Amino acid sequence: MEYISTRGGSPALGFEDVLLTGLAPDGGLYLPRQLPRFDTATFERWAGLGYAALAAEVMQPFVEGFLSPAELRVICEDTYRDFRHPAVAPLVQLGPNEWVLELFHGPTLAFKDFALQLLGRLLERSLERRGERAVILGATSGDTGSAAIEGCRRSSRVDIFIMHPHGRVSEVQRRQMTTVIGPNIHNIAVDGDFDDCQELVKASFADQSFLPPGLRLVAVNSINWARIMAQIVYYVAAALALGAPRRAVGFSVPTGNFGDIYAGYLARRMGLPIAQLVIATNANDILHRFLRGEGYARGALLQTLAPSMDIVVSSNFERALFDFHDGDAAAMAGLMGRFRGGAVQVPPAVLERARAEFSSAVVDDERTCETIASVFRETEYLLDPHTAIGVRAARECRTDAALPLVTLGTAHPAKFPDAIHRAGVPREPQLPLYMADLLQRPERCARLPSDLALLAQFVRERVRA
Ligand SMILES: *Cc1c(COP(=O)(O)O)cnc(C)c1O
Repeated sequence: MEYISTRGGSPALGFEDVLLTGLAPDGGLYLPRQLPRFDTATFERWAGLGYAALAAEVMQPFVEGFLSPAELRVICEDTYRDFRHPAVAPLVQLGPNEWVLELFHGPTLAFKDFALQLLGRLLERSLERRGERAVILGATSGDTGSAAIEGCRRSSRVDIFIMHPHGRVSEVQRRQMTTVIGPNIHNIAVDGDFDDCQELVKASFADQSFLPPGLRLVAVNSINWARIMAQIVYYVAAALALGAPRRAVGFSVPTGNFGDIYAGYLARRMGLPIAQLVIATNANDILHRFLRGEGYARGALLQTLAPSMDIVVSSNFERALFDFHDGDAAAMAGLMGRFRGGAVQVPPAVLERARAEFSSAVVDDERTCETIASVFRETEYLLDPHTAIGVRAARECRTDAALPLVTLGTAHPAKFPDAIHRAGVPREPQLPLYMADLLQRPERCARLPSDLALLAQFVRERVRA
């Protein structure tokens, strides 16, 4: 399969090169030139498959030329065996036609494990074949960092450096990173906010001369195509479990960078009967304002109870906009060039296309807590704040009472105990037994000012040549 840039100014690449690349050189994002389409008979044949087997079927067209079906199957079995629920992505029912898809049974308790545990293994395979080594440099507001560290901790070919904003991630999130101790794992608490960390990553990618020769810098942020691809699978799994392809389903997705819900949109374009896709956001509501017709306009960053959705720009939305412009890369290059200033309008036809695909709702902190409390009262089920935003948005946006509407449960409630306390729920969220001692484990973490030269020196001194 060939991958092209949304902005049309970069050569097409195969899967392996896209895996190892972040942004396209023209600033765009890679996506497949043509999506595979699955017919009803194929979905029927897949019903009842185990998660790993289904994952291999769904992803095979995307990795063609890199892995054979048998190789992919082995990697999927190995990846999803580490998840602590035999169904990998179990469905829980909250009410009539109301479901939560629990995506937090991976090693770091958030949905990012589905993609990053796989990505670590794909990367290892590629580096092994090429006889190369790589450095992963990433910034995290919490969940990506721990999932990436977990995905690469056993790698002999990858050194990983993860920056988080000092004092601004939850204690559980921090400890899930800093208690993983190994010669190739480096946590850095940066004096600054998440944007400062991201700027340091961007600057390091722009000038890689600080790295010893022969080392490759790899990005694992949410625009990495392999992450999107892995996320398509659980939409298919949930829909099949609820009666697809004969019966349509809907999804509500707690959204930040638009990576997760974009995978749902792709599943729909590949033939899965998805009748409704709800963008659920916190007060950082750039996508909701866009769908209301207010243009695509950067806002101020607001800190909320759902920190993994605290973003000002939803990077992956560019991929959907590309489709809404009928793949007109020149128009996209122009649009994104103008957006650099912070706000841009789109043609009415583009907005209509977006509105036909998505509905949206904004859920503020107060209503997030209300939802955690009311769902607990009704069912004694504990929602994490991100998932609570999804459930609330699903209830507000539902257009068909008979449609099974599935909220993606993006994190385990024990990751965000503060929100649960604030909601006044009389139950302490418990970490799973296998990490019950997380708060006692020793931590290792460096602290650096937000300074590119110091970061470069830190990395250079620690990479294993
Ligand atoms: C990353 C994250 C999100 C947002 O996902 P996007 O793909 O960035 O839209 C939502 N909830 C949790 C718990 C996350 O970690």
